[in-house]
Amino acid sequence: LLFNYVPFKSEENNESGVIVVINDITERENLESLRREFVANVSHELRTPLTSVKSYVEALLNGGLEDKEVSQNFLKVIEEETDRMVRLVKDLLMSSRLDFQKENWQLQNIDVNDLIENTLNKLEVQVKEKDHEIVFYPNKNLPEIQGDWDKLQQVIINIVSNSIKYAPNESTVSVKATVDSKSSILISIEDNGFGIPKDDLPRIFERFYRVDKARSRHLGGTGLGLAISKQIIEGHGGKITVESEEGKGTKFQITLPILNHKIRGQQSE
Ligand code: ADP
Repeated sequence: LLFNYVPFKSEENNESGVIVVINDITERENLESLRREFVANVSHELRTPLTSVKSYVEALLNGGLEDKEVSQNFLKVIEEETDRMVRLVKDLLMSSRLDFQKENWQLQNIDVNDLIENTLNKLEVQVKEKDHEIVFYPNKNLPEIQGDWDKLQQVIINIVSNSIKYAPNESTVSVKATVDSKSSILISIEDNGFGIPKDDLPRIFERFYRVDKARSRHLGGTGLGLAISKQIIEGHGGKITVESEEGKGTKFQITLPILNHKIRGQQSE
């Protein structure tokens, strides 16, 4: 609490006293500490690849260039680290635009079967690389929803590619879409991969939170995929939840309102 006070004295009747203003600044302080934590995270995430790029460049300048094989390897690392920074900045921009530019979303009527099929096609290479199997049977009785196709596609890409990444080769990912209630549909994405420890589960939608930093970095993650997915789903008036058991697998569930739902901050047609 913040106290401010001013003494006063009335000219008319000679009364005197103090005016006290009490401000509850808890929320302001919380926001400030979140902001500080965010800036610290971003700086750290950028500094790690930058430091690595700098040291490889130094090694090249200090003689590494003379050996063709060494320089090829070093340049490859520099390329990977630069790609990581580009991905990170792209995800950060996306995340901050999601906060502020919902009015630019392109709303359309969406058949969720089409959305899922189209998205899974885009992930084919990733799936083949790990000999995974993706199981999806379109559900013909699904009502349409209203949403931004690209944004919802981004969510499914993020979650299915996590299911592919955080699982041993030859695992299975099963995707289902059903009618959840009169007003919403449910998309579930379930894998039989590594799973998420119970203690980490409540935090995985936070920006930059990863169960295993090294593993995520090695797999090219930015730690922003689930935070972005949550922003997008909540922006559509929906919900995203997770259940998981370590060593057994993980299941994400997304509910989205059936057509004509008004999106926050926007008029639907
Ligand atoms: P990242 O870029 O690290 O993948 P995400 O925000 O997409 O970031 O996910 C956050 C963390 O949640 C991941 O680092 C991983 O530890 C965990 N995670 C997400 N999906 C799964 C999954 N299907 N199986 C196991 N762990 C997962």
